Amino acid sequence: MKNVGFIGWRGMVGSVLMDRMRQENDFEGLNATFFTTSQAGQPGPDGAPLQDAHDLPSLMKMDILLSCQGGDYTKAVHPGLREAGWKGYWVDAASALRMSKSSIVVLDPVNRKLIDEGLENGIRDFIGGNCTVSLMLMGLQGLYEQDLVEWTTSMTYQSASGAGAKNMKELVSQMAELGDAGRYLASDPAAEVLELDRLISAKLNDGSLPIDQFGAPLAASLIPWIDSAMDCGRTREEWKGMAETNRILGTEAHPIPVDGQCVRVGAMRCHSQAITLKLKKDVPLEEIEALIKGANEWVEFVPNQKADTLARLTPAAVSGTLKVPVGRLRKMIMGPEYLTCFTVGDQLLWGAAEPVRRMLLILLGRI
Ligand code: NAP
Repeated sequence: MKNVGFIGWRGMVGSVLMDRMRQENDFEGLNATFFTTSQAGQPGPDGAPLQDAHDLPSLMKMDILLSCQGGDYTKAVHPGLREAGWKGYWVDAASALRMSKSSIVVLDPVNRKLIDEGLENGIRDFIGGNCTVSLMLMGLQGLYEQDLVEWTTSMTYQSASGAGAKNMKELVSQMAELGDAGRYLASDPAAEVLELDRLISAKLNDGSLPIDQFGAPLAASLIPWIDSAMDCGRTREEWKGMAETNRILGTEAHPIPVDGQCVRVGAMRCHSQAITLKLKKDVPLEEIEALIKGANEWVEFVPNQKADTLARLTPAAVSGTLKVPVGRLRKMIMGPEYLTCFTVGDQLLWGAAEPVRRMLLILLGRI
């Protein structure tokens, strides 16, 4: 039986991972040890005392370590483990090792071949990808797999959960305060809507909303900046689009251009993306639809109709599920090779916890 150590299991991604593993009975047939950076000795989820996540000898007893703890922890612990000769498998949700030559970015429905080749070649670090990249690839796998895509632009609508648990709470607090400010006018049929608008605009700008996490109101607004600044005016989140897409697809030698703007919106835990694709040739829409539908068991094709879109292609409809719907598909007026579509996915499931959970199952020989 393999010894598997879990670090970061009580954080947001870790909790979703734990839920999925309990749901699917994944803990059966493995020896789980739970580590912590802050609560060593306290009882863990299995009742046993939590181990110190910085204690290398304890970590080195594990065949597999799965971390949802964060990049700083990875940077603090992973090099020491390898230098000390630890030969186990490191599976991680953080971005710290994604660009390392000795790692593979995992999204097994899309790149199982790369993962299997990596395992044969002695790769031991398997890292989950950026949430928007993983969700885009789950939705459009069929088109990339057929080498149909010349370039991609993704304009994102990213949820509060992507920024962390405190940010989710801040969004709801902002919503509650705006609701309180406007309630008496919103419920009065005779009230002037412009008065309501003035009230809400004033509340958004009077400095009273909690903005410690986001730095600006997100409720009733949006924030067109995610993560830190990079070269050429891009944010790090935007940079990841091209870097990680090609890393997951194994196309780094001849990278497919991916670029766009990443925007935070007031959704709770689903990221959405409006995507423009330039195809390498004119492919009939029915063929494109069939390729999208047939790529994996989680993608769902949503007909480009209002009723279907409202019922199936929104964060509200997708949140908490493994579905990755793709809809609003049509050719654009720029020409028959230009395609637009919209996709939604739960960024804590396929965007974070599920790829690392499945990598664990691959290492355990279960899938
Ligand atoms: P998080 O919620 O901040 O949790 C990280 C750690 O914080 C926990 O494991 C826990 O470690 C500690 N912690 C301190 N106070 C806590 C509390 N009250 N409740 C729960 N945990 C607490 O981090 P996360 O959002 O899950 O992200 C973890 C990693 O995954 C990051 O590298 C992130 O970039 C990456 N990732 C995140 C997302 C996302 O959507 N959030 C998506 C993809 C990848 P101890 O038990 O050791 O104290």
